[in-house]
Amino acid sequence: MSTGGIAVLGSANMDLVVTVDRAPGRGETVTGRTFTTVPGGKGANQALAAARAGAAVRFLGAVGDDDFGRTVSTILRADGIDVSGLVTSAEPTGTAHITVDGDGDNSIVVVPGANGSLAALTPEHRAGIEAADLLLLQLELPLPLVAEAAAHARAAGVRTVLTPAPAVPLPSGLLGDVDVLVPNEHEAALLAHTGDPVAAGHRLAAECGDVVVTLGSQGAVHIRGGDERRVPAFAVPAVDTTAAGDTFVGVLAASLAEQLPWEAAMRRAGAAAALSVQRFGASSSMPARGEIDAFLA
Ligand code: ATP
Repeated sequence: MSTGGIAVLGSANMDLVVTVDRAPGRGETVTGRTFTTVPGGKGANQALAAARAGAAVRFLGAVGDDDFGRTVSTILRADGIDVSGLVTSAEPTGTAHITVDGDGDNSIVVVPGANGSLAALTPEHRAGIEAADLLLLQLELPLPLVAEAAAHARAAGVRTVLTPAPAVPLPSGLLGDVDVLVPNEHEAALLAHTGDPVAAGHRLAAECGDVVVTLGSQGAVHIRGGDERRVPAFAVPAVDTTAAGDTFVGVLAASLAEQLPWEAAMRRAGAAAALSVQRFGASSSMPARGEIDAFLA
């Protein structure tokens, strides 16, 4: 089956993860148990999920001229992702400093670094968007850049899928350039000013074409015009839901770029996310195309 080309304009980080019995209090030093480095950032995560699902993916973003940046680039390339639009910034590669305590609770400090240095689309970014069937965006890059990318895609006739995370107010006009908005229930509530995620989805659908509100273990609801279609989650034993949302969006985008109908695309995205929550980690838990096919067979 032929696959569509996806451009992902987004963040690429190195996640520095320590596990501790107990997180340190103010001014306190504690001894950690383990330390691991894994690539992260919503942009890189969604790119990896889409590539593993079989899409041709081009990653557009920025890393620093440092070892973290070179490692992130190598890992993206290892999954077949085109990194010709990954520019090298004078700022260091973005990092997320994650402490996981004995109860599994996280505390995270993100330093955007190179991600925050992107002030405007580069010629490589513009070309990458124009060549794609579909553009995937999140909000971990400067918001004016995200808005510029969505407008550029609209002008070029390229469909845009936006994950409005982290939950922040959107630049005015951005939603009008978005074709598919995929908030989780918290993001939907913030953007639509209502705690009912489905009502929020309907409000947001009045501003952009399609809205998919993800509801964790309750599945997701697709809203277009006045219509809504709920898709339950697959019942699986979840051990770690990290990046379930990024897996869902990456595979939804890959499926839409392949011209799958909405119902089938939602089912594939839910299956990929259900596979990912049964394994630990972010990119390490994202399934390959064959695994998704086998799960749905
Ligand atoms: P995260 O921030 O952890 O990446 P999110 O809040 O962006 O997640 P969720 O709404 O939690 O996104 O989950 C996205 C999708 O993943 C859901 O719509 C569902 O299909 C799937 N999913 C999440 N949790 C589970 C679970 N426990 N069992 C099965 N599927 C799940």
